[in-house]
This record gives sequence, C-alpha cells and structure tokens, in this order.
Amino acid sequence: MQSAEQRAFLAAALAWTRRPEERHAARMLHSPFSGVPQELGAAHAALAAREGRLLDRIAEERLLAPFGTALAELSKFTDESAARQEILRRFQLDDTLPGASAAPHGGRFALCEPATPEPRKGMRATRPRFSASQLNAYVECPRKWFYRYLCGAVEDKGSSASFYGTAFHAALENLHSEFPRPGDADPAQLSLKLEGLINSAFDRHRNDFGTPVEYELQRRRAQRTAKKYVEWLLAEAKRASFTVVGCELSAELEMEGYEFIGYIDRLDRDDKTGAVAVIDYKTGTIATSAAEYREKIRQFKDFQLPFYYWARTAQGDRVWKLALLPLKDALLDVAPIVLEVVPVPSQIGRSASATGVIPLSELERARERMIELCAELTSGETTAFGVTADPSACTYCAYKIACAHRPYPEDQRFGR
Ligand code: SF4
Repeated sequence: MQSAEQRAFLAAALAWTRRPEERHAARMLHSPFSGVPQELGAAHAALAAREGRLLDRIAEERLLAPFGTALAELSKFTDESAARQEILRRFQLDDTLPGASAAPHGGRFALCEPATPEPRKGMRATRPRFSASQLNAYVECPRKWFYRYLCGAVEDKGSSASFYGTAFHAALENLHSEFPRPGDADPAQLSLKLEGLINSAFDRHRNDFGTPVEYELQRRRAQRTAKKYVEWLLAEAKRASFTVVGCELSAELEMEGYEFIGYIDRLDRDDKTGAVAVIDYKTGTIATSAAEYREKIRQFKDFQLPFYYWARTAQGDRVWKLALLPLKDALLDVAPIVLEVVPVPSQIGRSASATGVIPLSELERARERMIELCAELTSGETTAFGVTADPSACTYCAYKIACAHRPYPEDQRFGR
C-alpha cells in the first residue's frame, strides 16, 4: 500500500515540476506524504475542488507553509532527474520505489525507529470575551468549538439562510428605530415601511446569495413573513402597550472574572409596569413549545436568553419575559415562544403551549454553568475536543469536510 501511495505522490510531484498546476498540487495534498496533517490536507483539497484557489489558499495558510515552500522550490527545477532526487529527499520517500532513482544500497532499505509522539498539551480559550453562542457551540459539539474559536480552521462564508437572517434583522432594527411605539403607528404605514426596509436590506446582500433566483426566493419569503410580523406586533401592542427601547443592543457582563458580550435583538418596555421583555429573533429552527425551550435551558443546551436576562438585570432592569420570535416560516403566523420569569420554583408542564414560565433558580443554574464552562475552557487542561454524539448537529456544520470523526446518522452508517 505504501509503495502505491508513494508512487502516486511521486508522480503528482513530478507532474507539478513539469507543469505547476493546481490539480497536481491537490493530488499531492491529498497524500499522507505531503507532510500536511491528513484532515487538513483533505479539507483544503476538497475546498479547492469546489472553489479553486488552492495555491492562494496554500500561500495564506500558515499551517501549510512547509508544503507551500516545497511547491515553490520544486517548480524551479528544469532537470527531471534532479527534481526527482529533490522530491525523494524533501518528502522522505523511499528511493527504492520502482521509477525512483537507483538505490545506492541496491534496493534494500533500513527500517528506522518510529517517532515518539509529542506529549499532548492542553489548549485554552484565548479570546478575551465569551458569548452565549460560543458556549452553546461548545455544549453542542466541543470539536466545533475547537475549530471555530480556537483554530479558525475554515472560514464560514455564510449561507442563504444566514443572509436571510442578517437582512431581516437589519430591516426590523430600522423599523423599530423609526416606530418605537408600534401601537401608535398607522398599520398601513408600518406595513409599507417594513416592506421597503426588507427590500433595501436584501438589496444590500444581493451578491451574497448563491444565485439571483435564491435571492428572489428569500426576499419574497421575508416579505410574506414581514406581513405576519406586523399583524402580530399590532395585536401585541393592542393587548398591552409597550415601547421598543432598543434593537441590536450590546449586552456586556462580567461574571466571576469572565467577560461576556452579546447583542439583544429587541428590548421592549411595558408602558404600564416598566418591566422589560427580551426578544430574540429566530430565522432558523427553534423549540416548538415553551416547555421544550425551558428544558433546553435546564439541560444547559442554550444560554442565550439566560445570558441576556443577567446582562439586563445587571443594568438595573426588571426582566419579566424572555421570548424567541420565529421568523422562518412565511406560511405560519408569528407566534413567539415565551417564558415568563417567576421567583418561585415551578414544574415543567408537558403542554405544547407557546407560553410558559421559568423560575429564577433555573436562570441562576444556567449562570453558574456558564461560569463553570468558562473555567473549563480557560484551564488549559483540555487536550482533546470530542465530537458530538448527535448527528443532526453536523447537518449545517461548516467544519464537516475537515471532521473525520463526526457521527453518521444511523441510516448512513453502512455507507461510510
Ligand atoms: S461535523 Fe459534527 S462532529 Fe464535526 S465539528 Fe461539526 S458538529 Fe462537530
């Protein structure tokens, strides 16, 4: 097996010296003989097959530097036999390979001692600030956290779904800065305004969508959802008038020496009681009931709204409501998942209702867990970041192509 792989590598490297084209470099990168860690090499080769620019990528990527230097040096050779010698030397190939240079020791080779693996060293978070979404990523899949926050391994270029969310958030931010008291606004004017804001926000991201058709489909979806949003907003304002006191509000908090930052999509103040409600817009899939969302908080799978609760409480607000506002499905009415904060313990019901309660003690547990996770991530004692056991976490993971150990869905395991 070794010799076949080595022969393939040698052939690719010789082809590169004759004609330095990306396809030859990609074949070399795929091989374990390239000296590039296999997962990294395979990831870059796969990206190159999809997007090209392999040589630019090699030039930019520090981890690939020795390989990049070797490519540059080899491309200068004009004499094939000298190039062959250099390839054998640089990549420590077995020079008794058929087709390699004549072996000085008559085809025999000596086995060397296996290299001693380096002792594992702990890794720690180096970013000065944490966010709830960072901790959410860690509890969902430690390996994903490692890729995203520790090595920045592969750039996440975004997707239609993420640009849909960005544009929709921007349109709503502009709407509420102009109409902070939706109950006082003329419904037709509100609707018309949001329609225009959606169009201009999507227009700014026009080139981010994969195709013009995709752009148009997402823009129309947003327009239909926006209509439902305005209907819901007016009904809410009629039920109990409120003022939108901020959108995309920076939420900063220090907890036991760990600094956190986040952005609250919308903060409403009840006109009668002065209590505030934290609203988080969701353009992806969310829990379908308040009980389900509360359970996620209890199981420490979601820290976003607990974090906002503590950040605003530290600012002196009385937070009475935490809500997830779904903006994904244009065919459904906008119906937020709402948790009212209560001071006393309360059982989780099994109801499918969109509204429920969350006791303060559960928000406190979430806060404690966040601090524990920060301590774990900064301890420097973690030497390996395991993969998730839940294959659904991998579906849209940007690091999928680099992640050889990801779990496969039950029905695909035999196809690996
Ligand atoms: S592909 Fe799956 S296992 Fe791998 S990093 Fe992403 S979420 Fe984790």
